[in-house]
Amino acid sequence: MDIDWTALRAAAVDVARRAYAPYSRLRVGAAGLTGDGLVVTGCNVENASFGLTLCAECGLVSALHATAPSPAPATAPLKVPVKVPVLVAVAVVAGDGDPLLPCGRCRQLLQEAGGPSLLVDTANGPLPLSELLPAAFGGADVAARREAGAS
Ligand SMILES: [Zn+2]
Repeated sequence: MDIDWTALRAAAVDVARRAYAPYSRLRVGAAGLTGDGLVVTGCNVENASFGLTLCAECGLVSALHATAPSPAPATAPLKVPVKVPVLVAVAVVAGDGDPLLPCGRCRQLLQEAGGPSLLVDTANGPLPLSELLPAAFGGADVAARREAGAS
């Protein structure tokens, strides 16, 4: 799949202008490309409590899930899996337009949204997420360590 990194970064720059960052004054935008060619974006949203601040990648992942087709009636059990598009590439930029690496929490979020082969734009070119988050924790770890009787 050809990835237009210039366009992806431009989408991140565009959404960074919508960031709410009155405390840090560091606007951040993130744009992700799915395997289906869909671009989803997110920007950081700060909060006076600081601890509630949302990174741009949080908004991106939320937007990604919002693009999923409705899998079942709203009354269906939560165990019915939702088919969420998989991210294949992500560009994160600061308000100056230059790449900004995702924080640790967001690397974990992106891991579940794109997997270890997800390409992340960096100042030195795209890198697979597996290089930014080695030995990642995932759903298989949860399943393997779940106590008996839990579902
Ligand atoms: Zn983050």
